[in-house]
Amino acid sequence: MTVTNAPHAARAVDWKAPDALLRADPELADLLTGEAVRRAESLQLLAGENVTSPAVLAALGGPLIDKYAEGYPGRRHHSGCSLADAAELLAVDRAERLFAADHANVQPRSATSAMLAAYAALLKPGDVVLAMSLEHGGHLSCGSRANFSGRWFDFIGYGVHEQDGLIDLDQVRELARLHRPKAIIAGGISYPRLVDWAGFRKIADEVDAYLIASAAQITGLVAGGAAPSPVPYADVTVAATHKLLRGPRGGLLLCTAELADRVDRAVFPFTQGGAAMNEVAGKAVALAQAGTPEFSAYIRRVVDSARSLAGALQRGGARPMTGGTDTHLVTADVSPLGVTGVEAERRCAAAGLMLGKCALPYDPAPAAETSGIRLGTGAVVAQGMGESELAEVGELITALLSGGDQARIGARVRELAGAFAGG
Ligand SMILES: *Cc1c(COP(=O)(O)O)cnc(C)c1O
Repeated sequence: MTVTNAPHAARAVDWKAPDALLRADPELADLLTGEAVRRAESLQLLAGENVTSPAVLAALGGPLIDKYAEGYPGRRHHSGCSLADAAELLAVDRAERLFAADHANVQPRSATSAMLAAYAALLKPGDVVLAMSLEHGGHLSCGSRANFSGRWFDFIGYGVHEQDGLIDLDQVRELARLHRPKAIIAGGISYPRLVDWAGFRKIADEVDAYLIASAAQITGLVAGGAAPSPVPYADVTVAATHKLLRGPRGGLLLCTAELADRVDRAVFPFTQGGAAMNEVAGKAVALAQAGTPEFSAYIRRVVDSARSLAGALQRGGARPMTGGTDTHLVTADVSPLGVTGVEAERRCAAAGLMLGKCALPYDPAPAAETSGIRLGTGAVVAQGMGESELAEVGELITALLSGGDQARIGARVRELAGAFAGG
């Protein structure tokens, strides 16, 4: 498949260290070349990873990398910002159009920084927040004691049904009535099904709480029309530009007009200093690309491929959570194959299948072992794979975990990786 010049083509995997880098720092150049080779010889199935488009990479390495621009367009604390302002306005305008949002802030450096700013905009330390529990698929920034969120706010966790793995809105409502949270967070990092944003909104209204959508994992699905948008329902939506959106590593906040000022002030100056203007430029490019029919086709293929992967894992004896997926993400219980999540991750990595161990809801295994794996199809589909290849990937994984020949499976993985190495 030749997609090198298509707008969403994967970047060439035969990455060569530029001369300037080779001369200045051969040691680091060597590491980067090694990383390019590692990627070219393995399949990237980590759910949050993707292949940044060449146009985004070009913007990231462009002249705005050197610009100091604290503040917002028209209200900067530095001189010489008129073109930086125009670039940020372009990114903001594209984000607002793409997600039909009243207001966008494109400055958060990561999704976690964006969560911090969302909390800062709406809450005070000590406020009660109701969020998906970490054991059931919530992110660290939703109440982990190792994260600011768990120290500064009083988190109550909701979970998923034991039988079907789906979010239990009745439990969410019950907990909301009992604990009267100031904010409810809908969505998580390991949930393979669509979130009922309207259902969450109703509950938030019943208890007079803010609704924050934790939508970093699925930002690209929403942009591509494959998942319902949280934007009409949430007070603040926390998005990521580096996952399915294929943009630079970064966060994105979308909110109502009413909250625009509070959200902006929560990013700068409350939680960040000067914006990374090259990342803002990269976000502008990614947001434009995500509005094209090609991107929607890519996203459809991502979801179809994930379904195909889940089906193959199931046929091979693993147990996909919720019975499948509506997204790019598959979580599966590998204990029926006689391995822990940690062992599965190790064996797969040795064969060039890069995926993550995953604690499952109601996981009986210790947190350090886990019973599950988590995979996503964003990167491999960006490289041109589709349903049939993902079915084969699922077969290779379950064959490997059932004691199949690692050398043979590893060889096939390298062959596939080579055939789809950036088009
Ligand atoms: C990926 C993700 C995060 C963290 O993103 P970073 O950019 O690494 O901080 C937070 N929440 C959710 C739901 C995510 O999917």
